[in-house]
Amino acid sequence: MKEKLESLHIGKILYDVDIKDYTTFKVSSKVFALVFPDSLENLIRLLQFLKKEKIKYKVIGNGSNLIFVSDKYEGVIVRLDALSKVEILKDKVVVGAGYSLMRLALELANKGYQGFEFAIGIPGSVGGSLVNNAGAYNSSMAEVVLSAKVLTPDDKVVEYTKEDLKFNYRSSGLQYKNDFICLEVTFKLEKGNIKTIQETIKNRREKRFASQPLEYPSAGSIFRNPEGDFAGRMIEELGFKGKKCGGAEVSQKHANFIINTGKATGKDIQNLILEIKEQVKKEYAIDLVCEQEFVE
Ligand SMILES: Cc1cc2nc3c(=O)[nH]c(=O)nc-3n(C[C@H](O)[C@H](O)[C@H](O)COP(=O)(O)OP(=O)(O)OC[C@H]3O[C@@H](n4cnc5c(N)ncnc54)[C@H](O)[C@@H]3O)c2cc1C
Repeated sequence: MKEKLESLHIGKILYDVDIKDYTTFKVSSKVFALVFPDSLENLIRLLQFLKKEKIKYKVIGNGSNLIFVSDKYEGVIVRLDALSKVEILKDKVVVGAGYSLMRLALELANKGYQGFEFAIGIPGSVGGSLVNNAGAYNSSMAEVVLSAKVLTPDDKVVEYTKEDLKFNYRSSGLQYKNDFICLEVTFKLEKGNIKTIQETIKNRREKRFASQPLEYPSAGSIFRNPEGDFAGRMIEELGFKGKKCGGAEVSQKHANFIINTGKATGKDIQNLILEIKEQVKKEYAIDLVCEQEFVE
């Protein structure tokens, strides 16, 4: 298979890679191949090849919402680092899916554009964040996206409008659809007061550092907040803070965070999540929804 992949000449390929270096949870899982297609054309050729050969694959962004469950992923992981162009036009900005959302938010803020303050502290790529409709502080991607260029399963590049993208709370119509790939996102731009924007960013950053265990690897909040309540409150009340499962631990700083204390496996994290879910269901009759995606 290596020879066949090499013969495609599609860009950088790393074999037997530990995915921990490409996810924020830093959990080990050996991946057969990690591919960085160097152009749209080569991305299409790669996907055609993988489908023809029936090889399991997954396109990822910054891996900040993923938990690789086992110690091996017998397939190909694709990163879109090459799609990272940023083009500022009069009242919109066109950004490649592989670009960092946080970097974009900072750059736009420093140019005096408002509306992206929510994204400070969300360590995803533009593509992954679109798919998940990432958000915070009562705002989200849906508030700033105009349209997105998507590669469809029949290899067509289609411009989806905001309506086509079917955004919902932390989801979009593209979520869990492995063969619809976001290539580029067009955002609306609106000028604001640069001082106010920068102040908001500074405050939110400080708040996150004070309340979240950012010194440890994690994937952000584990559970969505149920309507009118906070998942962290229930988890804390049930005495889970500091609870360990192997190398995974419920953060002492924020009960809705699970941290990797060093050698956590995907299974450690998954088991801890299941235990919390079970207890919360038993005590509060609430089915907590996990924000992260388990990759098998
Ligand atoms: C410390 C921390 C804080 C966080 N805070 C927040 C927060 O406040 N709000 C929030 O919403 N999230 C938060 N998150 C979670 C995470 O950062 C977001 O969900 C982020 O948008 C995921 O983007 P990603 O590029 O890392 O996607 P990944 O985790 O790499 O992938 C997520 C999903 O998108 C798919 N995908 C990725 N790129 C593409 C593409 N180009 N086309 C099609 N599918 C694609 C993947 O296959 C996967 O299914 C936080 C995470 C951390 C670690």
